[in-house]
This record gives sequence, structure tokens and C-alpha cells, in this order.
Amino acid sequence: MNEVWVGTVLAVQANFYQVQLDEQEDTPLLCTRRSRLKKIGQRVMVGDRVRVEDPDWAGLRGAIAEVYPRTTELSRPPVANADQILLVFSVEQPTLDPYQLSRFLVKGESTQLGLCLCLNKSDLVSTQWQEQWHHRLGQWGYVPVFISVVTGQGLTELAEQLAQRVTVVAGPSGVGKSSLINALIPDAHLRVGKVSGKLQKGRHTTRHVELFKLPGGGLLADTPGFNQPDVDYPPEQLADYFPEVRSLMNVETCQFSDCLHREEPDCGIRGVWERYDHYLMFLEEAIARQEQR
Ligand code: GDP
Repeated sequence: MNEVWVGTVLAVQANFYQVQLDEQEDTPLLCTRRSRLKKIGQRVMVGDRVRVEDPDWAGLRGAIAEVYPRTTELSRPPVANADQILLVFSVEQPTLDPYQLSRFLVKGESTQLGLCLCLNKSDLVSTQWQEQWHHRLGQWGYVPVFISVVTGQGLTELAEQLAQRVTVVAGPSGVGKSSLINALIPDAHLRVGKVSGKLQKGRHTTRHVELFKLPGGGLLADTPGFNQPDVDYPPEQLADYFPEVRSLMNVETCQFSDCLHREEPDCGIRGVWERYDHYLMFLEEAIARQEQR
């Protein structure tokens, strides 16, 4: 009987795919893609579950013969089968900017994946500061995990939220994403950048998407850092990406399903939540983008 080899694509390098087979925990195989897959235009992404043929254990080679259907698919970064996004911000260096945080949260919500928010460098602020932000973010609909890679605060709690899941790490540069991944996965050996210059932004150090195995099970995708995610969704969907509005919708009524919650009559959503200003700014961007199309 022929054995079936199934695994997960951890990295894509030109036309080669690093595949971790389920039964071979330690050594990933360097695989090519069967020409049949090329012919049908079947792309292979990081995170894909694949069937491998002809594994060559001595040379650690193989060939991807089949890509199993994806449960989820992100385009930027290109990752298949992710369960959740881990959004990392720092409390200081760079200072937590509510508007930028909102922008990332909205982007995260638009993916429809789970969203986990962690605030790093907590060693730089007081407990009282953390409590205030905990309360504020609670009103936005989030429960942040305060962590510090330096002191180890919150890392166990965070590891529990990541165990057995495929998680994509996102957030601006300089907030400590590489430091965090190195702390959670000592084998990752990611280069840590210096926070430098007036803007206190870290150097851009992450290059391509790669999945790392977590010691407690599960996978973590390191993604290129970016500071300004686009607001590129239909204007009428934007409010759905604010959890506090989703809960308001249950008690207040808004008559129209396509209401933008601006000047519309009888809208009970308009202006009654802290992030309404953020919403209006993103809405303008979304409308401008729609008009460009
Ligand atoms: P990335 O750009 O998000 O990957 O950030 P890096 O991991 O390169 O870290 C940027 C800077 O923040 C480095 O100088 C780190 O040493 C520093 N850093 C990371 N985590 C912490 C932390 O918990 N506390 C403090 N004080 N500094 C940190």
C-alpha cells in the first residue's frame, strides 16, 4: 500500500516549498510543485496543507502533488489556513497611537479571522496606565494582553492564546514583533531592529512570510511590518468592523441596512461611541477609494 504524506508549507522560496510533514516533526522537506499543478494554475501558499509524493529522506526532497482546500486565505500577507491575527503594538517607543491602533484593528476585523491584541513594552508604563487602557479598549470591544518581552510579563497567557492555532503576527515596525517571536520560539532567530530616529520607528527587518512552529503546538507567521494598512473595503461595511457598533446595533436601531451613520435621519448609531471620529476618517478614505475605482 502506498503511504500518503501530508504536511504544511512553512515557507516559499522562489519555486521551492519548505514542507513540514505531519509525521516527520523535525526536518522539513524542500519540495517542488508537480507540473500538473502548474498547468491548472494551482498556487501553493505558506500555510497550505499539501500531499507530498516521493519523499527522498536522504536528500530531504519531495514533490507537492496536491493542495487541499483552504479554510481561510489572506492575500496580504499571503497565508492560507490562518485561524487568527495577533496584533502587536507597543505602549511606548513608539507611543501607542489610538488612531493607528484603530486602523490596524479595523483591517484585522475585515479579514474575518479571530483577533488577539497584545500591547508590548509594558515595562515602560505603570500598572495604572495599563488599567486605564484595559478599560478603554474594553469599551472598543477588545481584551488586550499586556506583555513585556524584557520582563516576561504576559507571555504565558499569550502563549495559551496561540497554542494549536495558526496565527499571523501583524503590527507596525518597532513594536517588538521580532523580539516577541524570538521569545516564544527560540529557534526563530529573527533579527531585532533598533528603534531609531525622531519617529521612533524600528528599522524594517522582516522580509518574507514564514511559519514558525510554536513549542506548545501551533504555527506563527511572521509578516513584513507595515505602518499604514489601507482602508480598502466598501463604505457600508465599515461599521461592521467596529465591535462596539455591532453590540450597539442590538439595542439602538438604525433604519437602513446601507446607512453610513452620518447625516441619515433616525440613525441611533451616529456619534455615540468613542471611536466615532476614527470611523468618520476611515469612511472618507473608503468613499474616496470607491470613487477612484
Ligand atoms: P519589530 O520591528 O516589531 O520586529 O521590533 P523589534 O523586535 O525589532 O524591536 C524593536 C526594539 O524594541 C528593539 O530595540 C527591542 O530590543 C525593543 N523591545 C522589544 N520588546 C521590548 C520590551 O518588551 N520592552 C522594551 N523596553 N523594549 C523592547
